[in-house]
Amino acid sequence: MKIALIKPVIGARNGRSYHTPAVLTPLVAGLIAALTPPEVSLEFFDERLAKIDFSRHYDLVAITVETFSALRSYQIAHEFRRRGSKVLLGGFHPTLMPDEAALHADVVVTGTVEGVWPKIVSDLLAGQLAARYDNAAMHALPVTARRSIYNGKGYLPISLVETSRGCRFNCDFCSVHSFYGDIVVHRPIDEVVRELQSLSRRIVFFADDNIVSDPDHARKLFKAIKPLGLKWASQASITSAADPLFLDEMAASGCQAVIIGLESLRAGNLKVMNKSWSLNIGEVSQLLEAYRQRGIMVYATFVFGYPEDTPGLISETVEFAISRRLFMANFNMLYPFPGTPVYLQLQKSGRLLLDRWWLSPDFRWDFPAFRPEMMSPEELADSVKNARKRFNSLSSLFRRSLEFSANLSDPLKALLYLSTNLVSRADISRKSGLRPGLPGCAIAGERAL
Ligand code: SF4
Repeated sequence: MKIALIKPVIGARNGRSYHTPAVLTPLVAGLIAALTPPEVSLEFFDERLAKIDFSRHYDLVAITVETFSALRSYQIAHEFRRRGSKVLLGGFHPTLMPDEAALHADVVVTGTVEGVWPKIVSDLLAGQLAARYDNAAMHALPVTARRSIYNGKGYLPISLVETSRGCRFNCDFCSVHSFYGDIVVHRPIDEVVRELQSLSRRIVFFADDNIVSDPDHARKLFKAIKPLGLKWASQASITSAADPLFLDEMAASGCQAVIIGLESLRAGNLKVMNKSWSLNIGEVSQLLEAYRQRGIMVYATFVFGYPEDTPGLISETVEFAISRRLFMANFNMLYPFPGTPVYLQLQKSGRLLLDRWWLSPDFRWDFPAFRPEMMSPEELADSVKNARKRFNSLSSLFRRSLEFSANLSDPLKALLYLSTNLVSRADISRKSGLRPGLPGCAIAGERAL
């Protein structure tokens, strides 16, 4: 019995597949591998790093699908099905768009795939594969990943470990809440500690959606991992900066950097995106200063396309990010993901320019799929492009490096600062004009793209 696991690329620019040199291990592939019995032969392809060999036959090809990679996933599915392999699609996108995914697959999985994977494998071995598996409980917080499947592929030397899934907040653009709903699940802390002890590397990225979603649980985790001497980073809400003692414990446990969704400098926008809770915990500059004082680097993300956004506000936001000497910042236009409140709202108000933008040959990464309220789509695209260029300019990189409490406070952080910023700088042109899917590939029932 042979199964292939596939992580697809998101698309192509100027006819060439998009690649970046900085790729982290996809955790879900290692978790599925750990749940696959040894009598089943498993091969793993990460198309972001190497081409897929379509000449091989598999009993099942399982593809993990995000909205950005949906079109490419359907192209891969079409090619393997044409050659006689059965195809399974799972992940965020098939969960939120199961009927669409079913047009391109023999099997669709909704919810977290790990919870139903053992059943899928036993059904496959028995020749009784169903067309649909739903893991409505979402509870399958899993086993330790089988990391040997990543060997020799060229990933960054950072171990990914999950301690929780889901987030207690419900920002209107975020597919995490659409996927998990109100459920936040935590792995038992002693199991997380055992996994961390088994790793040869001491640099870890916790792949949680929001590692501080439950502050009491986070405190217990920080206390348990402190003796391990790790250096770690994760996604966290800015609520982590509101309590000095909490932040002290987070820093003492080895936190080096946090990815924080600041989203907007305007209260009106934060209210519209259902993020007004972030207004109630303090002034943003002071909260950022709290991280800096503890040597924690801040990677901030901003999103534009909300009612108060104008070209002027986008410029102001870049200057804010540079003047606060942020380790890194992403300036994103709003991508309305299916199943999110903002997608439904844009659809209802007739402001979506491309309904299923993830399948459209007219969609590109650097142009909005909707009409903003206070500017034209072209103005939004140009302003975001200029923001990315300005933040990633050499003068900005130099100015932000003059931050000796966090960004350049030790050799590891200096290395992270330089490498992350240089990759991000190069990525602006690599992603410019990026379109979903690969040219010349067909998907079932559609014309060749
Ligand atoms: S805080 Fe972050 S993870 Fe949580 S809902 Fe908002 S954007 Fe999503």
